[in-house]
Amino acid sequence: MPDQKIQEYRDSIDSINLEILQLLSKRASVVSQIGKRQTEMGQKHYDPTRESEMLEKLEAANPGPFAGGTIKQLFKEIFKASLDLEEKQDKPKLKYSRKAKPENTTVVVSRGDVRVEFGGAEKVLISGPCSIESWEQMESTAAFVASRGVKLLRGGAYKPRTSPYGFQGLGEEGLQYGARAAAMHGQVFVAEVMDTRDVELAAHYADMLQVGTRNAQNFALLKEVGKAGKPVLLKRGMSSTMEEWLLTAEYILSSGNDQIVLCERGIRTFEKWTRNTLDLSAVAVAKLETHLPVIVDVTHAAGRRDILIPLAKAALAVGADGVHVEVHPNPATALSDNEQQLDFAGFDQFMLEVRPMLGWK
Ligand code: PEP
Ligand code: MN
Repeated sequence: MPDQKIQEYRDSIDSINLEILQLLSKRASVVSQIGKRQTEMGQKHYDPTRESEMLEKLEAANPGPFAGGTIKQLFKEIFKASLDLEEKQDKPKLKYSRKAKPENTTVVVSRGDVRVEFGGAEKVLISGPCSIESWEQMESTAAFVASRGVKLLRGGAYKPRTSPYGFQGLGEEGLQYGARAAAMHGQVFVAEVMDTRDVELAAHYADMLQVGTRNAQNFALLKEVGKAGKPVLLKRGMSSTMEEWLLTAEYILSSGNDQIVLCERGIRTFEKWTRNTLDLSAVAVAKLETHLPVIVDVTHAAGRRDILIPLAKAALAVGADGVHVEVHPNPATALSDNEQQLDFAGFDQFMLEVRPMLGWK
């Protein structure tokens, strides 16, 4: 038999809960108005100065019996939920979001009869050398990977090198080799572009334009690439959060181009045994939050060739729409990334293990 007094207190708690709930909802609708106004004015929602002012006022006005610290903690939770609400109501407007477009976007890279589709039943494999070094190197790699079923040939003609003394790429000559090798072997060609001044030229030769990790937040480049009329392979910035990465896609989407493939390529962490840390959660989250295809560049994530197979398997298992892997006829002599590119025998081993997960007919 419950105690009569406790029951009365509980009834009173129930009605106080409802009052708090009403006040919370009232507060949330004001927050929502503030959030909308801030968005209109291009202002940030998070304002730590305003938050600490509110906390100070509340602590000063606290009649007890809760301690000041407890009151602060409770209100911090309310502030956090309010910020989430403001950020959430911005999201449906973002073009990358599944809230704006629930169904998957497929991205088609084509030239003549050759057609590669991202986001379809078959997974895509992008392969080729890190840098385009010579016609012989590019053609032999294209021929080899094409014979293993690879339809999307990669190769860098403009190389983003950490040192200005590193090989910078062959420029237009490299683009010509890439386009010609792809055409000879029934492939389409993807190449990185680093400078707004080269976008037109790169778009002339390449069937897909790549924005590399170092340019992921080069907004002028993103806008220019968005307007180039070609599908875009958009790498994640090595220090970009999910939100920053998806907003880079938004730049391209807002220029009217929805043909974007997101590419996770590892992020910078404290870890040194791999060149970057492959963030597979980001792949799962990007698949969930966006309608765009997502692939994984295992080569630049790992920076070492001995773990490319398990990383590619993991990427496909987590839901990636494809894998990007560098292949070179003789990695030991490669002008860039020679620790991480596969040679032809290594690529055959890679295909043996990864191909069953690609769903290729
Ligand atoms: C590349 O793909 O050639 C490259 C430089 O990759 P990332 O921008 O991911 O380092
Ligand atoms: Mn490389």
